[in-house]
Amino acid sequence: NSNRQDKDKEVNVQVLLRCRPLSDDEQRANVPKVVTCNETKREVTVLQGLANKQVDRVFTFDKVFGPKAQQRSIYDQAISPIVCEMLEGFNCTVFAYGQTGTGKTYTMEGGMRKKGGELPAEAGVIPRAVRQIFDTLDAQDADYNMKVTFLELYNEEITDLLGPEDNSKSTEDRQKKPISLMEDGKGCVVVRGLEEEAVYSANDIYNLLERGAARRRTADTLLNKRSSRSHSVFTITVHIKEKGVGDEDLIKCGKLNLVDLAGSENISRSGARELRAREAGEINKSLLTLGRVINTLVEHSLHIPYRDSKLTRLLRDSLGGKTKTCIIATISPSVQSLEETLSTLDYACRAK
Ligand code: ADP
Ligand code: MG
Repeated sequence: NSNRQDKDKEVNVQVLLRCRPLSDDEQRANVPKVVTCNETKREVTVLQGLANKQVDRVFTFDKVFGPKAQQRSIYDQAISPIVCEMLEGFNCTVFAYGQTGTGKTYTMEGGMRKKGGELPAEAGVIPRAVRQIFDTLDAQDADYNMKVTFLELYNEEITDLLGPEDNSKSTEDRQKKPISLMEDGKGCVVVRGLEEEAVYSANDIYNLLERGAARRRTADTLLNKRSSRSHSVFTITVHIKEKGVGDEDLIKCGKLNLVDLAGSENISRSGARELRAREAGEINKSLLTLGRVINTLVEHSLHIPYRDSKLTRLLRDSLGGKTKTCIIATISPSVQSLEETLSTLDYACRAK
């Protein structure tokens, strides 16, 4: 039955495209726009002037969000269903992928702090997901516990962004705290040496997130452009106790990874030439491997190269199989980013 086979082969990878508005500076400088978004047709058109003729390239995605799209509408349309799956016991991952400066962090974090209980309009995916998780579980009067971890991956090394503040040590020393990745034999990934914080309210999570984001910024100033070359992974794990038949309780376990990837300029420019590709591979093995893993998942290949990078090992139990993955590719509309924009669109299209 071919229908059945199609269903088995269903890939749970969704690719969205978001184009940011021109910045105030770009507007003042009258920077030409080369990207147009058609949200209804789910199409992005890039205007490319080659010699003296205009060549348009059109890309189609699962969803397209133009420069006017609000944080809330992206969340409601694309992320909220994933959080529902997570609460049903699936492992889910949302990636932000794109050139530095195109809105990955804005999309994932945005404005965080609550004003009088309400999320600000600029709140991104992480604070909205946190609120949805707590709201849903509290409305169900569920018996649950929730833990979060927040880490940074730089040069294939993991740094904990949570954990106690230790002012006696420099940031460099703290970053050397050994953190190792293991699998527990049941197919779950365990990160040894990482602080797992139990959280009881949305506010707890906002505090942790702000602490982690501040550490990331500090590290950034110590090492120029570090954040554009590192990945940050915020993970929420919930265990929900459900009344089973008789005395047996069922525990549902769901995991949600929210990943702000390194800037795609770290790999894409070098794509053409082998030597430069190798250099870039060393800089960002994880970003390259993630692309390969997602391609093999989409193509249903048997060998999935999870083991080739830290990021894919870390996310192994949340990529492929019974999991949901969403990639939000971010681009700039400006002519100055044309080359990078095309690379991002090509990468994101291959992931479909
Ligand atoms: P990245 O994390 O990809 O390097 P940022 O999220 O830091 O990029 O965004 C770069 C700048 O553009 C920030 O000042 C951010 O607030 C702004 N920005 C990004 N996306 C949007 C958007 N959709 N609407 C308004 N401002 C945005
Ligand atoms: Mg960023």
